[in-house]
Amino acid sequence: MTKKVDGLSLSKSKFIKGLQCHKALYLHIHRPELAGVVTAERQAIYDSGSEVGEVARALFPGGVLVPYEGLSHGEQTAMTRQEIEKGTEVIYEAAFIYDGVFVKVDILRRGTGGWEIYEVKSSASMKDVYFPDAAVQYYVLGGSGLGVSRAFLVHINNGYVRRGAIEPLKLFTVNDVTADVEGWQDTVREEVTRQRAMLAGSEPVIDIGPHCSSPYECDFMDHCWKHIPEGSVFDIKGSSALPFKLFSQGIVRLQDVPFTFLSPRQQMQVDAALKQDVYVSKGAVREFLDTLWYPLYFLDFETFMTAIPMYDGTRPYQQVPYQYSLHWQDDEDGPLHHSEFLAGPDMDPREALMERLAGDIPDEGCVLAYNAGFEIGVLQRLSEWFPSQMRKVGNIVANTRDLADPFRRRDVYHWQFGGSYSLKAVLPALVPEMSYKNLEVQNGSMAMDAYFRMCGTADGEERESLRAAMLEYCRMDTLAMVRLLEVLKNM
Ligand code: SF4
Repeated sequence: MTKKVDGLSLSKSKFIKGLQCHKALYLHIHRPELAGVVTAERQAIYDSGSEVGEVARALFPGGVLVPYEGLSHGEQTAMTRQEIEKGTEVIYEAAFIYDGVFVKVDILRRGTGGWEIYEVKSSASMKDVYFPDAAVQYYVLGGSGLGVSRAFLVHINNGYVRRGAIEPLKLFTVNDVTADVEGWQDTVREEVTRQRAMLAGSEPVIDIGPHCSSPYECDFMDHCWKHIPEGSVFDIKGSSALPFKLFSQGIVRLQDVPFTFLSPRQQMQVDAALKQDVYVSKGAVREFLDTLWYPLYFLDFETFMTAIPMYDGTRPYQQVPYQYSLHWQDDEDGPLHHSEFLAGPDMDPREALMERLAGDIPDEGCVLAYNAGFEIGVLQRLSEWFPSQMRKVGNIVANTRDLADPFRRRDVYHWQFGGSYSLKAVLPALVPEMSYKNLEVQNGSMAMDAYFRMCGTADGEERESLRAAMLEYCRMDTLAMVRLLEVLKNM
């Protein structure tokens, strides 16, 4: 059933959604219950965006905030008008309505030649995809009769290193995009008309395509993609364009894919999937095993990253370790030992973690990590933060080997890997009795979310429960490596 749409149904975010796919906008308005659940990862991005927006206000301090919560659109636009008439120089979250489109401007500033729009993005670089965000605001403010002179996009400068209090002028990069958003004005006007007409009609017929995840992951993937069977062309790894190329030719199932379309790695993936086959290059596995020695340490870090650096010496979006798990064996047939570190709440975790790690791994130990480039990157940053540990860390890095190598090279390939060599793909295929599915924390994003929740809660019981879940997850990562190595040895 089509819901009646009033004249104020569009907003900046709805316009952007419609620009990506009319069907997504239609479903958002008329069938919101079909949207997928918001993942912890996605929620973290939203939260980070809000925090960055608030910090960016310090670029132009002393402004007046027009709140969203508790006020209708009409009340917000009225309050904005009052502030403008009063002579207010800077307004945060200024609200305007024109042509049925409601927008909030992150920062509106009275410049010398007219009003200036500042649209704040939490990303670390400028992207063309941001132009429509600023363009629709420019359109609405201009149409409302406000004299807008310039439009700016503000994003995080990831070269900034925190020293003491945050310095907004260094943390943010401000780009004048006036010419770009002016170039967008005709498109915005026409697209607003198209979207309003579309919303008043029946659900648009739009097939799935690259637009489902570009520029943003659509909320309605579960709904629109439900007709795609398991074992489809969308499982083929190594090319984002190929699956849609095949799909557009009516090829959906893996068994219908002509091998001439596929690279040798893709042929191996599809062939293994169809035959439910396992490939092992025993010589290559033996060569890999020969690069390891005892005592052997299995290491895994958990890290967080924030747009606004939290500690001195850190940069925006830098991975900061707060936890590790370490299993080890002194010799091949010896017992398995375990050590772990998880920072307490409200502390800079780096120094305590570095000290524990330096004590846990001896100079002569061989270190095994899965996708070791990540662990090596964390170790290198630790040595930059703590130069006195440079020799120790350099030694650990030199002794580190990558357990993902045999799977990345496909010395071992199991049809259930699905073209991936991630631990989450490899483990259930080779060690089916081990699974992350029953854990409260099942991946790195959930671990980061749990860490921040642990830091944010005053409830001791909740804190302990989150702590236990994080320890269990990280321990599972290194235990998984132990078991995978056993599988490789048995091959
Ligand atoms: S999943 Fe794709 S086709 Fe469906 S609404 Fe979203 S973008 Fe449009």
